[in-house]
Amino acid sequence: MKKILALILVLALSVFAFAACSSDKDENKGAQTENEVEAVQDDKETATLKMATNAAFPPYEYKEGEKFVGIDVEIAREIAAELGCELEIIDMEFDSIITSVNAGEADFGMAGMTVTEDRLKEVDFSDSYATGVQSIIVKSGSTIKTPDDLAGKKIGVQLGTTGDIYSCDDFGEENVTKFSKGADAVLALKGGEVDAVIIDNEPAKAFVAANTGLEILGTDYAVEDYAIAIKKGNTELLTKINDALETLSENGTIDTIIGKYISAE
Ligand code: GLN
Repeated sequence: MKKILALILVLALSVFAFAACSSDKDENKGAQTENEVEAVQDDKETATLKMATNAAFPPYEYKEGEKFVGIDVEIAREIAAELGCELEIIDMEFDSIITSVNAGEADFGMAGMTVTEDRLKEVDFSDSYATGVQSIIVKSGSTIKTPDDLAGKKIGVQLGTTGDIYSCDDFGEENVTKFSKGADAVLALKGGEVDAVIIDNEPAKAFVAANTGLEILGTDYAVEDYAIAIKKGNTELLTKINDALETLSENGTIDTIIGKYISAE
């Protein structure tokens, strides 16, 4: 009986101890002391940290067979390890990531996600761990040579991304076709349904390498910071993630991971 009670206590405490890992449990479980919580951490199996992503965005997140790989996936695994958690990846449309984080279905969103003023109204962002650039892909030999040439042209984007938001602002919503995956926008470009695709530079390079007859314009459309989205007000997790990012940056892990996927130019 004592054993059972102890087990129940351990389970109850671990909900509290792993508030950073397991997303939505009752976080006000009681007044356990730090020591008790730490003792439990030693006993307890590793808890889970859930990452919402859109695994169609190479080299940041994509699938090799059934396996999730990419820069964000590897950095997230390292963060989870720093926090003593297992990483669970929930693959979804890019457009659903912030909603899922706010609903508590995921603990954080990581998907080459750009920090924007509008998103900051909905979620908190970690420190930035990478820079992104919005690039323009066209068919080789296209008359579109600079961003200004996009005026009046048909532009393909990935739904809900900064490419979508900026191009609607600059060139009018009626000229922008939104696809749920960047790869589908690229197919539409090949098929002549759109004249250009605006998408982040590294996925752009991956898509151009995987398809013939496409090129990336030399002029960047926008430069941005990638960061991890966390539910607004979850400062405990935000601090832990920022601390982990700092450690991983200082010990060279982030550079090593990025270097594995992106060759220096
Ligand atoms: N960086 C872009 C954004 O945050 C695109 C991200 C993505 O498609 N995964 O909107």
